[in-house]
Amino acid sequence: MRIDVISIFPDAIEAFASISLIGKAQESGVLDITTHDPREMTSDVHRTVDDSPFGGGAGMVLKPEPIFDLVEQRSLGRPLIYLGPSGRPLTQAVANELAELGGFSLLCGRFEGIDERIREHLIDDEISIGDYVLAGGEVAAAVVIEAVGRLVPGVLGNRDSVGDESFSNGLLEYPHYTRPAAYRGWAVPEVLRSGDHGRVARWRLAQSLRRTLDVRPDLIEDRGGLSEADRTVLAEFGLD
Ligand code: SAH
Repeated sequence: MRIDVISIFPDAIEAFASISLIGKAQESGVLDITTHDPREMTSDVHRTVDDSPFGGGAGMVLKPEPIFDLVEQRSLGRPLIYLGPSGRPLTQAVANELAELGGFSLLCGRFEGIDERIREHLIDDEISIGDYVLAGGEVAAAVVIEAVGRLVPGVLGNRDSVGDESFSNGLLEYPHYTRPAAYRGWAVPEVLRSGDHGRVARWRLAQSLRRTLDVRPDLIEDRGGLSEADRTVLAEFGLD
């Protein structure tokens, strides 16, 4: 998968994309993340990429020319996705959708944002990482790269781990434990050490349901509420 990222801070993206899973996936050739700096498309001595807004007001706006030139001259991959607060919210479903593509491009805004003509005539899609305002799209691009990149076959070591984690079945994930079995007097739940795989699976489902009911009841509603089977498994572990 090829991801092109347009940013006036390419170093930030490159540093992030060189570590851990994403870094290894780039080394093995599964992912190719290429940055593009709009300043390279400018010809003035200050390499100006922004200007003050028509109509007045605070802040600066990213100019259209360097961005259009970049996308057109380098034939960047489509869809071209702008990262911005007015985009559709990034969810696991959106990450899954992007992971199916052979590639895409991300445009990071800065300052007050981008000239509207870029949005109207150049970008294909807009994604927001949440209902808050960042100072730039770079962190949002990193979030998209990580959420999508780890779904690309060959990036995660153990593909099974994608299947039962948070959001994949509309629930938050159950708790995990590792050695030691007792730490500072806090013991790992007995069921996890019982070797009874059926009971472990039911305990995990019950924990997922309980956790989701407590912190994200909206996700339970989206699934149509608790089923009879959900209630039974919650009761089995005294979590109802
Ligand atoms: N004036 C804009 C915010 C600009 S913030 C507004 O009110 O909508 C500067 C840049 O940060 C934006 O161009 C965008 O690329 C990025 N950004 C800010 N918040 C974001 C969010 N929630 N999701 C994705 N990108 C965001």
